Amino acid sequence: MVLGLTYIRAISAAGGAPVVVPPLDPEQLEAVLASTDGVCLTGGPDIDPAAYGAEPDPDLGPTDAELDATELALARSAFDRGLPILAICRGSQLLNVALGGTLHQHLPSIAPPAPAPVVHHRQTDPAHRPTHTVSLLPGSGLAATLEAEELRVNSFHHQAVDRLGDGLRATAWASDGTIEGYEAPARPFLLAVQWHAELLAHRRPDQRLFEGLVTASGRTRSRSADAAPLEVAQ
Ligand code: MN
Repeated sequence: MVLGLTYIRAISAAGGAPVVVPPLDPEQLEAVLASTDGVCLTGGPDIDPAAYGAEPDPDLGPTDAELDATELALARSAFDRGLPILAICRGSQLLNVALGGTLHQHLPSIAPPAPAPVVHHRQTDPAHRPTHTVSLLPGSGLAATLEAEELRVNSFHHQAVDRLGDGLRATAWASDGTIEGYEAPARPFLLAVQWHAELLAHRRPDQRLFEGLVTASGRTRSRSADAAPLEVAQ
């Protein structure tokens, strides 16, 4: 397992107590989620397109079947449990697949509609340096959380959301039309961003994503606390 400490630090700075979940069998996953208040789905390798019924593109990157299976199960279970979810980069792609959506497997092969300029989604600049702009849907949960309608972001992906899964709405786009963020309007807190917000968490807008997750997770905790005496009474 390899996970950047930047996720841990961003969640800690927002007041949360992060725990990293390793690949587990379904029963273990349920046990972990039963005592979890919210979930951050993180970055990582490409997702095997078999997960959404597509043939692999010749330019598909390396995939990890065990990681896909664990994280897809975790994402579905967290969603079914109504837990707050913040999904980042691969996590955003994975949550979309878990909810019935599909991906562009190799973004450079998707030509933007003319006259949109080509956007380089795999930057060579350092991660803390934003390289392209995203436009946010005014009035969306993502725009409200970021307190912005336009934002400069970093970009380290060669896959992206194609068709959105059930109940999801795109709320951020790059200038070439690539979906860079989405949310589930019917949910109290389900936000997904294609950029690496954890590497930009020194900025107020990105900090607010993690604060949003931790605040929503606190509400999960108070709901569980409210429910506890009832369980005892039974
Ligand atoms: Mn991008």
